[in-house]
Amino acid sequence: MAVTTTRTSDLLDLRAAEVPRGVANAHPIFIDRASGAKMWDIEGNEYLDFAGGIGVLNVGHAHPKVQAAVAAQLQRFTHTCFQVTMYESYLRLAQRLNRLAPGAAKKKTVLFTTGAEATENAVKIARAYTNRPAVIAFHHGFHGRTLLALSMTGKSSPYKQNFGPFATEVYHTAFPYEHHGWTSARALASLHELFACEVLPDKVAAIIVEPVLGEGGFVPAPMDFLRELRAVANRYGIVLIADEVQTGFARTGTMFAIEHYGIEPDIIACAKSMGDGLPISAVIGRADIMDAPAPGGLGGTYGGNPLACAAALAVIDIIEQEGLFQRARVIGRQVEQRFRALQRRHRQIADVRALGAMVAMELRGEGEDGGTHLASRLLEAARRKGLILLSAGAKRDIIRVLVPLVISDGDLEQALQRYDETCAEVLS
Ligand code: PMP
Repeated sequence: MAVTTTRTSDLLDLRAAEVPRGVANAHPIFIDRASGAKMWDIEGNEYLDFAGGIGVLNVGHAHPKVQAAVAAQLQRFTHTCFQVTMYESYLRLAQRLNRLAPGAAKKKTVLFTTGAEATENAVKIARAYTNRPAVIAFHHGFHGRTLLALSMTGKSSPYKQNFGPFATEVYHTAFPYEHHGWTSARALASLHELFACEVLPDKVAAIIVEPVLGEGGFVPAPMDFLRELRAVANRYGIVLIADEVQTGFARTGTMFAIEHYGIEPDIIACAKSMGDGLPISAVIGRADIMDAPAPGGLGGTYGGNPLACAAALAVIDIIEQEGLFQRARVIGRQVEQRFRALQRRHRQIADVRALGAMVAMELRGEGEDGGTHLASRLLEAARRKGLILLSAGAKRDIIRVLVPLVISDGDLEQALQRYDETCAEVLS
């Protein structure tokens, strides 16, 4: 079903004419259809997908069980607004998420549409509960593009430049990024400096942290760091928020990445792979904290939309029935091994990091933007070989893998071979 080659160039022209440049596109192609870990563009080219729509497709493109659940809901109704008239799927999804969140404390869940809404509402809830203003976030963290979420995001370019002034009472401190010299001990010292110099802990409502930096470049927080954050939060009555928007829903081999650390966050924000592409997000938290905002304080017209609730319930079934926790670990190990083998071959691969199937390699090149340039060349060369990659990091010099966890062994091997060849072509 190949379409003429002029179609992509026509659409690229249309895109340039009609859509602002501020929305950047990683790849200049247009998708016609997708299934599992594969996509086909309008020219008929087939791609293996290592990007998963930025970590949204852990259960794969167009999973038949998600399609069936959404189609059935589509026949019944598409929207009432939960705040106006309710429907059972919202409650069933909240109930399942409450059971899945780690820890013994009784939980409650409120649903939204995007990751940014989840992180913003997590902070609203923490502020209502503590009656304190301040929020602590981390360098290299990413929490969304709306004003409060952007204010919490710890990455200057391109996200924050020209979009200020930012929300007040948001403080940033170092994330433990060992490859850049930030050990756990150094990052914790920086947090205590923040308390000493900028904001007293008893003014802090929440600490928001990604257990593994996503946009920041797949840096897993060290075990002792997150445990110490939990201890600090306990000591000062601060709400600890785990931003699991990118790490959640089996990506790291557990439902939530925080489970690897054996601690219970007070609140989890999640989105992305929760809906297999239908927009849905959640704030799951300790019931007493979640009940702090007064009736009417939380919500949104589309939050917990019925089509998206149907998709999310199907996603949780699929993760459990298809053994995707185990699969994430197997995929992660395989990709990590291959990346380490590549690192031995290519001196520009400076670091390889992984937690479950969240695997990345950090590049180094000659000159200021050496790694950045290499990453963009890798993206382009891999695409030509039929592999869609995604970069990450403050300098976009990191290649990250967010492959759907339903990829077959054969397709994974083929994708890794394509990546080997890409590295041989681009790196020395
Ligand atoms: N938090 C994290 C950790 C993310 O990775 C993202 C999206 N990349 C967000 C929040 C924001 O999610 P959304 O784009 O759905 O608003």
